[in-house]
Amino acid sequence: AVSTARDFDFFYFVQQWPGSYCDTRRSCCYPKTGKPAADFGIHGLWPNNKDGSYPSNCDPDSPYDRSKIRDLIPTMQAKWPTLACPSGDGSDFWEHEWEKHGTCSESILDQHSYFQAALNLKKRADLLGILRGAGIEPDGGFYSVDSITGAIRDATGFTPGVECNVDESSNSQLYQIYLCVDTNARDLIECPVYPRSKCSSRIEFPTF
Ligand code: 5GP
Ligand code: 5GP
Ligand code: 5GP
Repeated sequence: AVSTARDFDFFYFVQQWPGSYCDTRRSCCYPKTGKPAADFGIHGLWPNNKDGSYPSNCDPDSPYDRSKIRDLIPTMQAKWPTLACPSGDGSDFWEHEWEKHGTCSESILDQHSYFQAALNLKKRADLLGILRGAGIEPDGGFYSVDSITGAIRDATGFTPGVECNVDESSNSQLYQIYLCVDTNARDLIECPVYPRSKCSSRIEFPTF
């Protein structure tokens, strides 16, 4: 059926710390364009519902089309690098994100607008700068989750979600930070619901 109704309540804008993806048992592979900057990278912009559920793979008739976002590719390589193995140029990651998540907000954002919106959000939320300003550095040290969420709340006005994974020595570490965004993918909002955090109270912020 043809529908233009929005079928989600907000977006999660999710950024990943590359050091925490790479120091796991699965390890990682740098993209073909070289080692990414030591900065948070975009993971995705995910339509979500207030009850915690989310739509996925909403439109098999809207495949990822690199030609529609050609002007964005250099910025995506810098800000949305892929770290999965084997090394790629990012296309597989971006295709997965568009098809799984982007197609679920297509009534609001076409493919170019979707990727552009994520890049704009990245510019507005400089998580590494915010954390550094609070003395929280990717130096392999341990920090309380509360100090991390507090620093981001103080700087942005909104409380983020924090997701952890574990390194090869089973240390709980800062893996992803979730910010919530309105359905136009423009403004940060208070999160209606948070992802399960899986973090210890003090977590490592590994180097990259
Ligand atoms: P994981 O199982 O690694 O936490 O998540 C696997 C994938 O499921 C993520 O990459 C993402 O595509 C999707 N996912 C996990 N949690 C959420 C969530 O809370 N909201 C949305 N929209 N997608 C999620
Ligand atoms: P999700 O389903 O969680 O949104 O996306 C995860 C998928 O994207 C996985 O299939 C994963 O292999 C792929 N992927 C490619 N590059 C990356 C990366 O740098 N980080 C993460 N988390 N997933 C990546
Ligand atoms: P997916 O099936 O979605 O590719 O990946 C499943 C899970 O494994 C996701 O949490 C994804 O981020 C992770 N993953 C996939 N490939 C790699 C990899 O090469 N290195 C690491 N560290 N994790 C990966």
